[in-house]
Amino acid sequence: MYPSFDSIIETLETGKMYSFPGGVHPDDKKSLSNTSVIKKPSLPDLLIVPLRQHIGSDGICCVEVGDFVLKGQILSQSSSPFSVPVHAPTSGEVVAIAPHVVAHPSGLTEMCISIRPDGKDTWCDLSPIANYSELDKNKLIEAICQAGISGMGGAGFPTHIKTSTSKPVEFLILNGIECEPYITSDDRLMREHAWQIRQGLDILTHLIGPKAIVVAVEDNKPEAFEALNIACQDKHDYRVVSVETKYPAGGEKQLIQVLTGREVPRNGLPADVGVMMFNVGTCYAIADAILHGKPLIERIVTVTGEAVESPSNFRALLGTPVSHLLDEANYNPKKQKAPKVIMGGPMMGFTLSDASIPVVKTTNCLLVPAKKELVDDNAERPCIRCSACADACPASLLPQQIFWHAKAKEYDKAEEYDLFDCIECGACAYVCPSEIPLVHYYRQAKSEIRIQRDEKNKAEKAKQRFEARKERLEREKLEREAKHRKAKEARLAANKAKEQNAVAAENANNAVDSGATEAKDKVAAALARAKAKKAAMQANANADSKPANADEPNNATNDKKAQVAAAIARAKAKKAAQAQNEAQLESADKQVEHPSSPEDDKKAKVAAAIARAKAKKAAQAQNETQDESAAEPSTTDQPSNQSSSPEDEKKAKVAAAIARAKAKKAAQASQSEASSAEKPAGSQGEKQAELPDPETNSELNAEAQKKARIAAAVAKAKAQKAAKNSEGGQPDKSVSEQGAPTQLDEQPDSQSKEQLDEKQARIAAAVAKAKAKKAASHKEYGSNHSSEADAKEQNVNSPKEASTSSVSHQNNSALSTNAEDSDSNLSPADEKKARIAAAVAKAKAKKLAQKGNGDLATSTDTTEQESSKASEQSESSPNAAQATSVQTSSQPTEQDEKRARIAAAVAKAKAKKAAAEQEKGSE
Ligand code: SF4
Ligand code: SF4
Repeated sequence: MYPSFDSIIETLETGKMYSFPGGVHPDDKKSLSNTSVIKKPSLPDLLIVPLRQHIGSDGICCVEVGDFVLKGQILSQSSSPFSVPVHAPTSGEVVAIAPHVVAHPSGLTEMCISIRPDGKDTWCDLSPIANYSELDKNKLIEAICQAGISGMGGAGFPTHIKTSTSKPVEFLILNGIECEPYITSDDRLMREHAWQIRQGLDILTHLIGPKAIVVAVEDNKPEAFEALNIACQDKHDYRVVSVETKYPAGGEKQLIQVLTGREVPRNGLPADVGVMMFNVGTCYAIADAILHGKPLIERIVTVTGEAVESPSNFRALLGTPVSHLLDEANYNPKKQKAPKVIMGGPMMGFTLSDASIPVVKTTNCLLVPAKKELVDDNAERPCIRCSACADACPASLLPQQIFWHAKAKEYDKAEEYDLFDCIECGACAYVCPSEIPLVHYYRQAKSEIRIQRDEKNKAEKAKQRFEARKERLEREKLEREAKHRKAKEARLAANKAKEQNAVAAENANNAVDSGATEAKDKVAAALARAKAKKAAMQANANADSKPANADEPNNATNDKKAQVAAAIARAKAKKAAQAQNEAQLESADKQVEHPSSPEDDKKAKVAAAIARAKAKKAAQAQNETQDESAAEPSTTDQPSNQSSSPEDEKKAKVAAAIARAKAKKAAQASQSEASSAEKPAGSQGEKQAELPDPETNSELNAEAQKKARIAAAVAKAKAQKAAKNSEGGQPDKSVSEQGAPTQLDEQPDSQSKEQLDEKQARIAAAVAKAKAKKAASHKEYGSNHSSEADAKEQNVNSPKEASTSSVSHQNNSALSTNAEDSDSNLSPADEKKARIAAAVAKAKAKKLAQKGNGDLATSTDTTEQESSKASEQSESSPNAAQATSVQTSSQPTEQDEKRARIAAAVAKAKAKKAAAEQEKGSE
């Protein structure tokens, strides 16, 4: 607990002072230099200005070699708060910026700016601050900093740092204690410049605002005390106090303790105890800088010692070599055993290694001791552990312990003994009987420790940089690895996505292919189903209509066979129709060219009419067949390629239906004819009643009527032609034909009747045979395939027409030829049908022959008359011709029976022949 402000003030008012431990009372030797005023030395030839003249970091040089600088021009800029600039002490040229030995016990070099003065000592532009109290304190502090002011008492602490403190300051102490022997610079400054010191104190008071201002002056400087007292007399709060002379009372801590009784803690600052202390020289510099605008470029240096002839205080420019000041003080080296200049006092000063070392801001004294004036450094003897040093230490240290460890370079142990609390007062050394330069050991130890600390700091910084670099490299490595991993993952993902896309595309293609295949399969399945359905329908139809064919291999074979048979039947029908037309035309021409008799003419007319009707019918059938073929181009035009297309099958079905209808119709007609043929010849009314039913045989009746009309028209035309020929002298077929019905009705004779019966029998047999064949074929193939039905129908019609045309004797060959052609291409079914028809015809012929034996005489005339009537009725009634033919066929004779048997035999032979040819064709 340190004294309070009031107690301190009371103590100060009473003139009592506190004290500090230790201390010595050496001979001050101040009288050597304090009697003369401060002198202004001459300009040295070279000024060497160190960039650092204070505690803290160096400033940054802002001039170059060769620059001409003015007095007070700034040479370096502050690089940190703990640095202050330096200024050119005079005008001149910068001749060097290089390291130079500086004022330090270690003798190390520092960067210095060498200026060669021009001798003019020309000031630069100055910026004094007259009303500093109105200026912002920070600007005032900045001005102090820019003036390059640092502590001039010895430590060299930057002044602007002290003035910018934020701690409350109770006591602002102006240190006028110059306790070290030989030094009188402050004494002379206080004596000569007390007022300016007071001005500086005013500025500091303005900046710091302390509660009390104490001006401490050692009691061995009464002139200085008086001067300051006078200077501060107008300031009641300025207390100018005299302090007992005791060395090292001028030390900061010691003076604070003397004045306030407060002890600055270890590693602490005076501000920690509410005290702020400035040297009188610093205060003078502040006033000079603020009030005159002059930077700190000079200071008062005491050059004393018995080795100089004129010890004095010099207002020396900073950078002035020591040698120059020694010269100014008339240094006499002869008074020295060896050249020795001590910078500072005999207690705290250090011996300079070079006389060219420049004066700096902390240089207050140059002591040039003569022989035996000071203790010889080479007289060091071993420590006797007298502890006199410890008793004299103002810092209450154990100097001998520190000395031992420092000498042994055990700096850590020296630090354990609070080496850095040593103020290097030299009191210990002063009292050491062994004349051990203890302060030198302490300073060396401190320097080594600082170097080690600096190196340790540098090593620590290098380690931190290394760790930072290692961490950065590791981080970058991790980042690269992460980046590569991400890139790899991205590539893998891309490849995977690509593969998936490829698989998806492949699946899509497969799906499309499968879809197409499926569509094709569906189409094929639909076609197959349609074919199967058609086949089933055909099978059902075949099963319904033809159970006997259930043993056939398959429906496809039946379809193919049916299509082939239909194509063949159509081709044969066409061929038969052409042959029929040719035969009819040929027979008609022959009849016209060779009219034998009126009966022949009449028969020829009838035959021609029948032939023309049949030819026309055949032509119509051929047209129908061609139309059907045109509707079925694939089956008609390409019979060989009739595979089993749906259209062909459909057409075949339609043709089969038509064939079945025709077969049914033909069967009904056959039954009607058979029933009429089995009946004996009766009256006309009965025969008319036995005619087929017009409703069931409407198609046949229509065809017959049409044929009859056509035949009548042809016969009429031929009759007209024959009449014209007879009128010309030559018999004409048309005339015979035209007159034939009349002659037949009016002049029948026995011969002609026999011939007519014979012909009628042949016609009846042929017609019966043809009808039988037709009926048989319709019955047999009524339910078969349409193509087969068409073929059979045409084949049946062809023989029928051929047989019908065979009524004419001249047409027998054509009949046989047509029948042969038709039968020659018959299938086994046709053969079977033909055989059946032949059998039926044979039976009918036999039956007719049996019946004809009894009725022949009576029925011949009737037949002839009916036949002639049928010819006449054919012109007026469509059913007359058919009825006539039926009635004619129902009146056989023996010759007819014989012919019928012959025809049956011929048909049978043809059937066999057709069967043989069919087998060859199938092979
Ligand atoms: S005064 Fe000198 S001799 Fe005595 S103890 Fe200290 S160092 Fe050793
Ligand atoms: S040890 Fe340091 S403080 Fe103590 S007397 Fe020696 S020099 Fe002075």
